[in-house]
Amino acid sequence: MIIVLLGPPGSGKGTQAKRLISEVKWPQLSTGDMLRSAIGAGSQLGKEAKSFMDRGALVPDSVVVQLIADRTRNEDCRAGFVLDGFPRTLPQAEALDQMLATRGRGIDHAVLFDVPDADLLERLTGRRTCAKCGAMYHLQAAQPKKQGICDQCGSALIQREDDRAEVIKKRLEVYHAQTSPLIEYYKKQEKLKTVNATQAPDLVFQAFKKILY
Ligand code: ADP
Ligand code: ZN
Repeated sequence: MIIVLLGPPGSGKGTQAKRLISEVKWPQLSTGDMLRSAIGAGSQLGKEAKSFMDRGALVPDSVVVQLIADRTRNEDCRAGFVLDGFPRTLPQAEALDQMLATRGRGIDHAVLFDVPDADLLERLTGRRTCAKCGAMYHLQAAQPKKQGICDQCGSALIQREDDRAEVIKKRLEVYHAQTSPLIEYYKKQEKLKTVNATQAPDLVFQAFKKILY
């Protein structure tokens, strides 16, 4: 099964993807995580990507398409995979469809995690992330047991550079301009499924799973 997760930044798609992969054997392929780990490793690709990410812009299509093309050749993607944060533009979606077609595969579902903009700003400005393992918390809604410390690995929690209010506004603009056209794209292919992502995380997960199995 190949699943695309769609939704604005802060819609919780990454969190839901992590929950799903704890139950199934497919890996979660998050271009955001891949790019951040390239930045952490100090690679050339990471250096290039950072300048785009820090100002809330998208990394060039060719870069992320190549990342996904390479990653999906891996043995662990044979049974299926969950795409989180990719595709994010129409050219990326088209490149993905073409790439899968040449491999005799295709997307099964595009799941939209639907949240109004008004909720997103609060969700994202309150978000704190573990610098080491990527676990996510929220100042009000999902506090760690010990303030500023990751429950999972004990490292310090940080605010991502792109979770600052000014950058968030830009990311939402980018989402509406460049990513939301994918909703229509997958609707036309009759693959779009929508989940109300304003509900509590457990309810969102139930609705999500109902779509898949
Ligand atoms: P969120 O879903 O919360 O916006 P991500 O971790 O998915 O955060 O992405 C963070 C940043 O990484 C994006 O703002 C963008 O700069 C870059 N990025 C991630 N995926 C893509 C993609 N498919 N195409 C272009 N840029 C991407
Ligand atoms: Zn951690």
